[in-house]
Amino acid sequence: MNGKGWSPAEVRRVGAKVVDLIAGYLERLGDGPVWKPVPRALIEAWQHAAPPLVGQSSDEILEAFARDIAPYPFGNGHPRFFGWVNSPPTEIGIFADALAAAMNPSVAGGDHAAVYVERQVVRWFAEMLGFRADAMGLLVSGSSAAALTGLAVARLHACRRIGRDVREDGLQGVSLRVYATAEAHSCHQKAVELLGLGRKAMRLVPSDAVLRLDTDRLDALIREDIAAGHQPMAVIASAGTVNTGAIDPIDRIADICARHGVWLHVDGAYGAPAVLTERYGDALQHINRADSLAMDPHKWLSVPVENGLILVRDAQLMRDTFSLVPAYLRTDDEPWLSEYGIQQTRGFRALKTWMALRYHGVDGYKQRITNDCMLAERFADQIRRRADLELWSPSSLSIVCFRLRDSDDRNRDLLKSIQHGGRAFLSGTVIDGRFWLRCCFVNHLTTDADIEILMRAI
Ligand SMILES: *Cc1c(COP(=O)(O)O)cnc(C)c1O
Repeated sequence: MNGKGWSPAEVRRVGAKVVDLIAGYLERLGDGPVWKPVPRALIEAWQHAAPPLVGQSSDEILEAFARDIAPYPFGNGHPRFFGWVNSPPTEIGIFADALAAAMNPSVAGGDHAAVYVERQVVRWFAEMLGFRADAMGLLVSGSSAAALTGLAVARLHACRRIGRDVREDGLQGVSLRVYATAEAHSCHQKAVELLGLGRKAMRLVPSDAVLRLDTDRLDALIREDIAAGHQPMAVIASAGTVNTGAIDPIDRIADICARHGVWLHVDGAYGAPAVLTERYGDALQHINRADSLAMDPHKWLSVPVENGLILVRDAQLMRDTFSLVPAYLRTDDEPWLSEYGIQQTRGFRALKTWMALRYHGVDGYKQRITNDCMLAERFADQIRRRADLELWSPSSLSIVCFRLRDSDDRNRDLLKSIQHGGRAFLSGTVIDGRFWLRCCFVNHLTTDADIEILMRAI
């Protein structure tokens, strides 16, 4: 190690080793158990080791990775990881992250390629999801950050409607309300708390029997709140809930929002890309009525974590929410991306997204998502045929929930024994007050043979 950095020969030598580690990792991923606990001794070693005083060689560091880190993955990437919504990484995305780090730009703004790549990716997604090309957006860490960003714009919008400047005066004396069902992701509550609305601002809208937002009840709640002097700020509609994949009636919700001048945030973190498919194109066609939409390329599009998208229909409003450049100094030719969101220094997240989109193409993604939905349907059929198992119906998108016709405790035991058995990994959830096992198909490596193994594990 000297003051000069690595020679090109050293970059190539270490790079070859890293590529070898990546190839080996991916090659062996399907062999091992889907998940195994990290050994206690290793955890303790990590917890107690002091910061390294003297530097180590890259060879030693890579050896430690191969020995202590690579063998204990989260589990996603394995064809029988069905827990939550975590996909395998698209291979080109792995290398895109290394290339992005090599360039290491800040994508806050300026005239360099990364800025234009991110703008192109956002425009591509806008088009794929049915938005107009003048919608604005950013790549963020995920749909939690996307929700916070979108709801911050909604807050500005709601305050303007009552003649308040939230950036100048804050929320004193303003009582905003946000509407969502119990099936909506918890990140919205986090956003509402962080935005200073207070937890009481969150109004729970009842769901119907198949866990979709009940629009009559939504309309009634909004009217009640207006009559009581509150200011309805935003409705959260789910385009694929995380529990069951339920899709809220977005068209009718958008009508209600339009009637009352309320912001519509569509959470399509997981489900929005299914708008590309024939099967779900109709159910999702109205996501483009959203004022803001969250979608996670790091979920169904297999872009390596972290990768989330926030799209906002009104670019000016988004800029007005975050920009610290006074209006008289703003230029319209290429505003900085940092004027539209929370971060100043911004990573080159767009490169892996751009490469993945080019690699798969819209058609490739459509095919993959369609396949995942078909696998889920075939798995649901198998559950339906078993007298000792109960299927949550309707299953939607690529999520299948089921349970033993037995106590919650027995179902929790079953989940644990499947997880520890290592042959498959499922998650659990509570629907209807009862505990269910939950299976989500977002891995293009999964085949019918894996469903067979999963059935045997059950
Ligand atoms: C994952 C998910 C979120 C949260 O997104 P992060 O990327 O984890 O921040 C929100 N809503 C739904 C439906 C999700 O699946």
